[in-house]
Amino acid sequence: MAGMSFFIDTTRCTACRGCQIACKNWNQNGAGMTKNTGSHQNPPDLDGNTFKLVRFSESEAGGKPVWYFFADQCRHCLEPPCKDAIAGYTDGAVIQDEETGAVVYNEKTKGVPIDDVRGACPYDIPRAREDGRIVKCTMCIDRVKNGLIPACVKVCPTGAMNFGARENMLDLAKKRLADLKEKFPKAQLLNPDEVRVIYLVVDDPAKYHSHAVASLDSGIDRKLALRRLFRPAKTLVQGLATG
Ligand code: SF4
Ligand code: SF4
Repeated sequence: MAGMSFFIDTTRCTACRGCQIACKNWNQNGAGMTKNTGSHQNPPDLDGNTFKLVRFSESEAGGKPVWYFFADQCRHCLEPPCKDAIAGYTDGAVIQDEETGAVVYNEKTKGVPIDDVRGACPYDIPRAREDGRIVKCTMCIDRVKNGLIPACVKVCPTGAMNFGARENMLDLAKKRLADLKEKFPKAQLLNPDEVRVIYLVVDDPAKYHSHAVASLDSGIDRKLALRRLFRPAKTLVQGLATG
């Protein structure tokens, strides 16, 4: 499977949130009202104007505080369940770019029920805008098609964010994992064969984020199940449009 991929090495992340801000800037996503929830994580969750969020979790080990940073975003799944869910309502709303593999939503997502799309995503990524359009990370497809790297990768000062040809990112991820395994026996890559955004964590993924790793089966069984689930809804939408 060619195309492009990210490698996100959480051990190098300092939670500076540069990637989060760069994403907002490049996508011209406005600021929104937020509130302090007692955590470094702000806003508290992804939303229609926040496609990338640095999640922050606090824990304790041996009487000392431990912090987990997780720069969350769409994984650009190789077989995206969200695409099937949206296709149950409307055609042509999700493009899977042949060259890069980027999964990109367009304005045809407007009006598709967000709960169904969000529920189909194993990583809980899609969000709705006020105008009803469903949005998420685009892999900065407009930059990548012009020979640039995604904005979040460009600004990352520590090397946590990496982007390039899929085989190169997989090689980089596996080498880094091998280096860390001795010191961190729980070190692992998260669903590397299923996604184009490959995270490396060194502890239980749930300590980073409840949806850090996919718990649902992906692949053909899940795709077929979703098609069956959403076919009646599509028929209903078409019926309303013509009736
Ligand atoms: S991570 Fe979620 S939103 Fe992104 S491509 Fe996969 S299923 Fe779709
Ligand atoms: S820019 Fe890099 S170091 Fe800063 S929060 Fe994002 S991934 Fe972490």
